[in-house]
Amino acid sequence: MAKLLGLDIGGTKTAAVIGTEEGAILQRIEFTSRATRGPEALIDDILTAARRLMDLHPGVVAAGVSVGGPVDVLRGHIQGPPNLPGWHDVPLREWLSNSLNLPVAVEHDAKAGALAEWRFGAGRDCNNLVFLTLGTGLGAGIIADGRLLRGTCNLAGEIGHWRVQPDGPLMYGKRGSFEGMASGAGLPALAAFLYPERATEFGTALALNTLWKEGDRDAEAVIIYSADILGRGIALMIDLLAPERVILGGLGPRLGPDFIRIVHDAAAADALPGHFASCEIVSCQLADNIGDMAALSVAEDLWRTLK
Ligand code: BGC
Repeated sequence: MAKLLGLDIGGTKTAAVIGTEEGAILQRIEFTSRATRGPEALIDDILTAARRLMDLHPGVVAAGVSVGGPVDVLRGHIQGPPNLPGWHDVPLREWLSNSLNLPVAVEHDAKAGALAEWRFGAGRDCNNLVFLTLGTGLGAGIIADGRLLRGTCNLAGEIGHWRVQPDGPLMYGKRGSFEGMASGAGLPALAAFLYPERATEFGTALALNTLWKEGDRDAEAVIIYSADILGRGIALMIDLLAPERVILGGLGPRLGPDFIRIVHDAAAADALPGHFASCEIVSCQLADNIGDMAALSVAEDLWRTLK
């Protein structure tokens, strides 16, 4: 049985994971990215974790990396993602491949997530879907007519940078961006913008969620505002791409059905009714395993082309 190495590099945390071609996770090591230290320090931590796992599980045949874009998938270079400051044109594939002596593929996290949900999760039986990361940032992975949509330079799906409210909060150098108002980092940014005096208390998406569930009116207003923006953005994607399913990662499973209901109603209000009627908005099924499975799906794709 071929074993695969998955590396899920996020702005907040990074995981190294060993799995099988069939999608079973055997073991994982997670650590904080401490991304502001720059690429060398994080890559050192990744190599340490990967070597430890590969010693414990001999027989790894390929590695896949899932990381926020923009990514040059053909060269395997990271090109300055907003949540990895200082990573400019980093030849990640070459570094990892030389150090681990393995074939390595590097993929945009949202596309990797779409592949994982398509194969193993909420998109299993459907050939037109949009997967939204909704983690630290917001990106879309699109399966259109049974194929991963890549676009020129593999850059399809960079929706987090849409400007949805020109006078909105400033995040990652842009005012009122989609991800600045609807993502794990966007929620607290929006909260600080709407309620500056409660910015510390509203410091994370999870803190906001807890306060919302406890009946805090301000926290509720922030969540409704964000879910409404997300729903209206989803309506645009539904009209453009006519997906059968829109699958929410990150905040979807974390904030749960009440959040998804608000997103759903906002999308329903804006999308063409005929389109909306044939599309469901659901939480990702792989939930907390989505990052691991995304990275393993990239490794599996690579291994299939090499076999
Ligand atoms: C990046 C996207 C990525 C998303 C989630 C955004 O800031 O531009 O490529 O998919 O964050 O990580």
